[in-house]
Amino acid sequence: MIYQRSSALFNEAQNAIPGGVNSPVRAFKSVGGHPIYMESARGAHLRDVDGNTYIDYINSWGPQILGHAHPPVIDAVKHAAEKGTSFGTPTELETQIAELICEMVPYIDQIRMVNSGTEACMSAIRLARGFTGREKIVKFAGCYHGHSDAFLIQAGSGAVTFGAPSSPGVTQGTAKDTLLAPYNDLEAVEALLHEHEGQVAAIIVEPVAGNMGCIPPQPGFLEGLKAACAAHGTLLIFDEVMTGFRLASGGAAEVYGVTPDMVCFGKVIGGGLPVGAFAARREIMAHLAPEGPVYQAGTLSGNPLAMSAGFTLLSELHANPEVYTGLAKRGASLADGIRDVMTEKSIPHQVNQVGSMLSLHLCESPVVDFETAKAGDNAHFKALFHHMLDAGIYLPPSAYESWFLCSLIDDTAQDQTLSALRSFSLG
Ligand SMILES: *Cc1c(COP(=O)(O)O)cnc(C)c1O
Repeated sequence: MIYQRSSALFNEAQNAIPGGVNSPVRAFKSVGGHPIYMESARGAHLRDVDGNTYIDYINSWGPQILGHAHPPVIDAVKHAAEKGTSFGTPTELETQIAELICEMVPYIDQIRMVNSGTEACMSAIRLARGFTGREKIVKFAGCYHGHSDAFLIQAGSGAVTFGAPSSPGVTQGTAKDTLLAPYNDLEAVEALLHEHEGQVAAIIVEPVAGNMGCIPPQPGFLEGLKAACAAHGTLLIFDEVMTGFRLASGGAAEVYGVTPDMVCFGKVIGGGLPVGAFAARREIMAHLAPEGPVYQAGTLSGNPLAMSAGFTLLSELHANPEVYTGLAKRGASLADGIRDVMTEKSIPHQVNQVGSMLSLHLCESPVVDFETAKAGDNAHFKALFHHMLDAGIYLPPSAYESWFLCSLIDDTAQDQTLSALRSFSLG
C-alpha cells in the first residue's frame, strides 16, 4: 500500500505536536514506521487519507462496539448539537443516562459522569480514600488506569513493597502510597494487606486485563480479591473502562458474577465521544461533593453531545443483549482461527480471548500477568503488525494492547483477516 499522505502529515505534525500525536500509542513507536492518518470510518472499516481501507480491530480502542458511524448515534449527536453544544447547567438527559446505567449495572445506586477513563479512576481513588480515611492503594503490574500520578507506578527494586514512579514528574511521595502486586496473584495481595493493615483504602483492578494484551482473571482471583477486601475494610474497585458495556451489559462483574464496591467506566459509555464515569452504592457516593466533602467537578461533565451518543449506544446494547452473544462467538471463532493458522506455521503463540477482546502473544507459555506478557517476541510482533497493515487489517500498534471487535465483523471479514495472517512469514 501507499502511505504517502500519512507520512507527510506525520512529518508536519511533529512540528506543533509533541511526537506528532495526542496520545503516545498512536505514534507507532513500538512497531516502528509512521502512523496512518484516518480520513473516515464506517461499520467495521477505516479509510485513510491515501484512500486505503482496513478492517478495524481497535474500534477507537473500544467505543465503536456496534461499528463506526453507527447511524442512530450519529443522528442523536446531530440532533443534540442543533440544540446547543454545552450549557453548564443540568439537563434531563444526564438523569436518563444515569438511570439507564444503574439499571444495566444493578450493584450501583449512583453514578458521576466525567470526561475520560483517567478522570474516572483518579476520582474513584479519591472517593475511596475519602470514604475509608486511608491513604494507600493496591494496583496490579501491567494494569492501566489512565495517566494520573497515583497509577504511573512500577515495581520498586529489591525488598521495597511500594512502587517507584514510572514517569518523570511523578513524585516519590505519590509512589509510596501505591502498592503493587502481580496480576492473578492473590497471595501477594494478601501479604500487602497484612503488611499495611488498616492503611489500604482500595484495590483497583481491571477485572479482565486489557492493557498487557488481554489477560483473563484466573478462577477465584476476583472472588479472592473481594473476600480480602471485605476482611481488611478495603474497597474493591473494578476498572471497567475497557470491559464495561463491552463484555456484557453489566460488564465483567456480570460475566464473572463478582460485584465490586466501586466501578469506573469509559470508552463504550461515551459512544465514541469523550466520557468516563465512576459509580458505587449510595453510602459511598454520598461522600462526593456537593452532597459530601470529597471534591470532584467538571466544566464539560455530562456534556449533551457526549450524553446523547452514550445514551443512544447504551440503550441499544441494553435492548439487544444478543449483541454480546454474537460478539463472544465471533471472538472465540477468530481466536480459534488465529490459533490454527499460527500452529500450521509453527509460530509459537498464545491467544487470549474473552468475549470481544483478544490478543495474540508470540510466546510459548501461557500469558497470565505482566511478566509472562513480556515474554512475547516484539520483533516478530512488529513484522506481523506491518504485514497485516499492508494486507488491510488494522491491529493495535502494540503487542500490549487488546484487539477490540465490533459487531460488524462477519465471516467475510474474519476470512480476510485469517488469510492475511496465513500469508505472513517470519522471513
Ligand atoms: C483506556 C483505559 C483507561 C483510561 O481511559 P482514558 O479515557 O484513555 O483516560 C483507564 N483504565 C482502563 C482499564 C483503560 O483501558
